[in-house]
Formats: sequence, structure tokens, C-alpha cells
Amino acid sequence: MDCLFCKIIEGSIPSEKIYEDDMMLCFKDINPTCPVHVLMIPKKHISSLDDLKEGDEEVISHMMLKVKDIAKTMGLDNGYRLVINTGEDGQQSVKHLHMHLIGGRKLNWPAG
Ligand code: 5GP
Ligand code: ZN
Repeated sequence: MDCLFCKIIEGSIPSEKIYEDDMMLCFKDINPTCPVHVLMIPKKHISSLDDLKEGDEEVISHMMLKVKDIAKTMGLDNGYRLVINTGEDGQQSVKHLHMHLIGGRKLNWPAG
């Protein structure tokens, strides 16, 4: 499959890894929008939030439970934001589900 993030998981495209286990990988975004910008992805290829299926509960809950640990590792003691861009209007550019963990400065709100 011609998927950028699957290639990062395989290691054929390099990345700055933050954390890895059997279900997920976390690495630095190549074009950070904040002092901390980490991408959290499932090792299983899931194209987007819209493509989640029965049986994906374990990986999704595992990733959500890891957020606070990654945030702590990255020194985000004063808060952070988790973003999942989905589909065309959501400006999703890579079609492999990913959560953006951003922080390290006061973030603007509302988004978009
Ligand atoms: P999206 O726009 O799909 O929500 O987010 C895709 C993210 O992937 C973007 O923030 C972009 O900077 C990041 N990205 C694209 N290509 C690469 C790459 O080759 N390596 C890394 N580390 N990040 C990438
Ligand atoms: Zn993929």
C-alpha cells in the first residue's frame, strides 16, 4: 500500500520517534506548528476516523490512554491539544489515521 505513515512504521521513511509499542507509534511532525508537535498513529492502517470498525476499540482506547504519558514525556505540564483532521473539509492530508498532539505555547481558540 502506498501510504506515507505505513512507510514510517516500516522504517523505510525515517522519523524522529518519541514512543513505540506493538499497537502505535509516536513521532515528531516534520513541519511543526507548535514547539511540541507529535503525531500519534496506529500501526494498523486505518485511513481515517470515518473508517473505524468494530474491533478497533482496543487500539483506539490504547492510543487515547497514552496521550497523557506522551504529553508528560514532552513536558506539556501546562496543557495541550489533541486534533484529528478528518476528510476534505477537515484538511486531512495523510490518509492514515493520526492524532496531532500539540502544545508548548498558549494555543488559539476557536480553531479553524
Ligand atoms: P494532516 O494534515 O493529514 O492532519 O496531518 C499530516 C501531518 O503529517 C502534517 O502535519 C505534516 O506536517 C506531517 N507530515 C507529512 N509528511 C511527513 C513526513 O514525512 N514525516 C513526518 N514526521 N511528518 C510528516
Ligand atoms: Zn497507512
